[in-house]
Amino acid sequence: DYEARIPTQANDEIGRLSRAFNVMAKAIHEEDMRKREFLANVSHELRTPLSYVKGYSEAILAGMVKTKEEETKYMKLIHREAGRMERLVRDLLDLAQLEGKSVPLQKVPLVFSQVIEDTLAKYEPFLHEKEIQVVADLSPEVIVEGDGDRMEQVIHNLLDNAIRYTPKGGTITLQLFEAETHSCCFVIRDSGKGIPKEKLPLLGQRFFRVDQARTRAEGGTGLGLAIVKQIVHLHGGTIAFASEEGKGTEVFICLPMWDDQQHE
Ligand code: ADP
Repeated sequence: DYEARIPTQANDEIGRLSRAFNVMAKAIHEEDMRKREFLANVSHELRTPLSYVKGYSEAILAGMVKTKEEETKYMKLIHREAGRMERLVRDLLDLAQLEGKSVPLQKVPLVFSQVIEDTLAKYEPFLHEKEIQVVADLSPEVIVEGDGDRMEQVIHNLLDNAIRYTPKGGTITLQLFEAETHSCCFVIRDSGKGIPKEKLPLLGQRFFRVDQARTRAEGGTGLGLAIVKQIVHLHGGTIAFASEEGKGTEVFICLPMWDDQQHE
């Protein structure tokens, strides 16, 4: 629905200049639309938990809650929704920082398998609770060039999704391998519900969810993969997804290996 500002068919200098102007004007218009959409999404995501917090606390204040048990129940709900808002704000700030001009990445030599194992250890209780089996082959002792905290965030978000979208008793496989172009790839595979083929290209867009209502209820912010994608790109790496509905999902992340010569 965007119309060219300067309608022109001419092929002379003015015509070409006009077309260049139209291309730029269209890009600005699209960026503007993206910003509006983003703001609308953020408002919507915040409004939902806020209205719960307001509603439950009003019920308590109005004396509608009679028993201690009921009060505890409402307080827990308020606490849960506050937690949701907290995660959303944290992810939004993170994304804003990552997309800003001066990203403070501390690139150091990282033993990739170590980062993965450390993050995995933090998930032990959740894996245990969901009876998820983890099969890890992290044998190549490769050293990548990365920011330790940010890399941990990447693995954290991917593990979080794999666990969240895999039913009880499922399997998660982690693998590391060296790739040709002096890079190292990490694959995380789950036996979860999978993602429809046509939705794969949309993964990593802010607030994209396969199933809006359900996955929001599952507690995700809808920003996890956008953050992952941004961090991987800032490291000069690549990310790819493969999935089959009902069978599971695979996420591939390839990062440049640490190069001693470049850092002498
Ligand atoms: P969320 O906080 O909703 O998990 P993400 O950005 O991490 O946000 O993921 C976006 C969406 O991609 C999720 O809502 C979910 O629909 C889908 N998704 C991500 N990882 C997986 C996975 N391992 N299996 C199935 N679906 C997934």
